[in-house]
Amino acid sequence: MTDFPQLDGFRGAPGVVRLIGHRGARGVMPENTMEGFAFTLKVGVRAMEFDVVLTRDRTPIITHNHHLLNAATRGSDGNWLTGAELKVSDLSLTEVKQFDVGGLDGSTVYGKRFPDQVFMSGVQVPCLAELLDFALQPEGRDLLLLLEMKSEPALPDQRGNPLEIVHEVIEEVRSRGLEQRTILHSFDWSLLEECARLACDIPRSYLSQLPENDDDPGEDSQKSVAPDFDVLGVSIPQAVANAGGSLWCPYFMDVTPELVAEAHELGLLVETWTVNETDDINAMIDAGVDGIITDYPGRAQRILLSRGLTW
Ligand code: MG
Repeated sequence: MTDFPQLDGFRGAPGVVRLIGHRGARGVMPENTMEGFAFTLKVGVRAMEFDVVLTRDRTPIITHNHHLLNAATRGSDGNWLTGAELKVSDLSLTEVKQFDVGGLDGSTVYGKRFPDQVFMSGVQVPCLAELLDFALQPEGRDLLLLLEMKSEPALPDQRGNPLEIVHEVIEEVRSRGLEQRTILHSFDWSLLEECARLACDIPRSYLSQLPENDDDPGEDSQKSVAPDFDVLGVSIPQAVANAGGSLWCPYFMDVTPELVAEAHELGLLVETWTVNETDDINAMIDAGVDGIITDYPGRAQRILLSRGLTW
């Protein structure tokens, strides 16, 4: 049905709903860290969703926001960062590596969102290269990569060409021969258009979030870089299909069984984010999605098992 073998790891089937670890397993492990990715894979969840941003020296690193989140970042003195958050594009890779992202400050709004996350020390922000190299090791051989490229063209001080991240990411994937284990993923559909031009051999995943549904606290919104869904003139699944996408990744509050059915008729797989509460996980299973992107892979596993399902 497809030339993209990695899609098999994201396709639902009778009795199967796929699980994708969000930033690894953010509910229980430090997000977007090698420790979190290794944990998630070890517990049997192969697919990882994670976020890539460029440093000042144009190295793709794995972190969610364009700024290092003070609530999740300690300096070399062991203290939480304070004041204006540091912009990743102002920092060299060497500078980024000096910070410790192994824990959350529990006094902050963001820290309170994840009270069960372990607290570790000596954990660095990984480069994309580190995760890709891990995928080539025997212990990482089952890993599938749902690789989100972040862009913020609305920021006036963004450096360089906004499409540069696409070139850097594809080069790193290609240099390791990981084209058949990677899916290129973004809210910024113009980045995905560049992916289609440069790498039609790597499937693409189109993120969406309707403007009326709120962002989560402590997270950079990507709504401003997404298409204006009110003026598309077609449904979002149809727009994804028209763009040549393989995956549609809607915010879970935007999912209906009808849209999932439409996406399936168009040949798309539907992976929804970020689904953490038991009722919501059950609702997404009932809606017929292929996969669930969650901060709590263990919780989702238990729900699937209780329903006689697997992942
Ligand atoms: Mg992401």
